[in-house]
Amino acid sequence: MSNQNNETTPIFGTEASSEAVVMTSLHKNPVAPEVAYRLIKDQLIDEGNARQNLATFCQTYMDPEVTQLMAETMEKNAIDKSEYPQTAELETSCVNVLADLWHAPDMKRIMGTSTVGSSEACMLGGMAMKFRWRNQAIKRGLDINAQKPNLVISSGYQVCWEKFCVYWDIEMREVPMDNGQLSMNIDKVLDYVDDYTIGIVGILGITYTGKFDDIKALDALAESYNKTHEHELVIHIDGASGAMFVPFVDPELEWDFRLKNVVSINTSGHKYGLVYPGVGWVLWRDKEYLPEELVFDVSYLGGHMPTMAINFSRSASQIIGQYYNFYRYGFDGYKELHTRTKEAAVSIANAVEATGLFDIYNDGENLPIVCYTLKENADVEWTLYDLADRLQMKGWQVPAYPLPKDLDNQVIQRFVCRADLGQNMANALIRDFEQCVEDLNSARILYHEKTEAHVQGFTH
Ligand SMILES: *Cc1c(COP(=O)(O)O)cnc(C)c1O
Repeated sequence: MSNQNNETTPIFGTEASSEAVVMTSLHKNPVAPEVAYRLIKDQLIDEGNARQNLATFCQTYMDPEVTQLMAETMEKNAIDKSEYPQTAELETSCVNVLADLWHAPDMKRIMGTSTVGSSEACMLGGMAMKFRWRNQAIKRGLDINAQKPNLVISSGYQVCWEKFCVYWDIEMREVPMDNGQLSMNIDKVLDYVDDYTIGIVGILGITYTGKFDDIKALDALAESYNKTHEHELVIHIDGASGAMFVPFVDPELEWDFRLKNVVSINTSGHKYGLVYPGVGWVLWRDKEYLPEELVFDVSYLGGHMPTMAINFSRSASQIIGQYYNFYRYGFDGYKELHTRTKEAAVSIANAVEATGLFDIYNDGENLPIVCYTLKENADVEWTLYDLADRLQMKGWQVPAYPLPKDLDNQVIQRFVCRADLGQNMANALIRDFEQCVEDLNSARILYHEKTEAHVQGFTH
């Protein structure tokens, strides 16, 4: 690219504006910043509108004040705790807030860290279980090489657990999802447990359906197992979506450190923690459950600070964003926002139900997720994929996809409601939804075969 323009050349008069923005190798000459800004921004112009994307749990709105605060703190490196001790203090404060919210029995004995998201957090929770299992198994005299260690989880697991098992050479034992409940079938869990089980993962908010595993029942199961076995069964909670929602909306539900055998919990700050993508958290109820081999020292103002995250350098701005939300909203702010989100979800579920065409799997009552399938006897020519296409014409992104293993002949559709989907927007969505159904009922040309099942849209 040659650069014969000067600073008065209008952006769309520059040579750069007539050349491809997407490069395959670095071009030779620099481009003026305002030209680069405009052309790259335009390159992204036909992407979906994030606010209408109901396929994702990830945040698409934050206060302008915190957006500014985050932009102004982008250069802070979260791992450099001696250069940025105040930032490190905010991170510790967030860990304490979560430990309190999750009813840690002894605040002096908790361990916890921020991560990039739940995937890194689950990796850490899983590793801690693996290392602890191995240390205990050796003490008990078990031949740890006789068999691979295993992890017990419902077949509705998120892909990060599959990664964990592949990376750490662990056998994943999938408990089928119960057809009625669409969550882990608790009666079957112990069939999958043996001396080589590093732990059980309970999911507070199965990604596919928004349903909760019955964690209290799981804890009772572990408790009775532990009474009669030397091998200790521990539970990690994958609360990527639920762990920052339930404490505000359904505080009576026991799923957290109130249950004795729940030893660690992860969550995504960028889901119902209401921060833009890039922050997650993992906490252990007691140092005992995070083996020392996994805790590393970084120097900190001449002293030492424990670190247990996998990543090293990353911006602290997401942690600061999380802190801002905690500080600004307080308990009641989160409660108010989440309650309104839930009400919006319930109103959408009611509208879906009122068509008489769908079986509702999740009506927004636990997480603000609306999830449904076409009734078997719905007398229509179209599929959920056609409905997804129709909704997309109105800008709404809503995935349709088959359920996991054992239930994969069932195609479902899911709306994930977030804090920035107010009742006004929900009403607009409901009107569009009803119109789409009406349009499809009278459509002449439909695109998708009735027998075809595939993933359409982002589902995580
Ligand atoms: C979203 C999700 C994850 C992955 O979380 P990220 O923060 O995107 O890494 C893990 N588990 C469950 C249940 C999820 O919903």
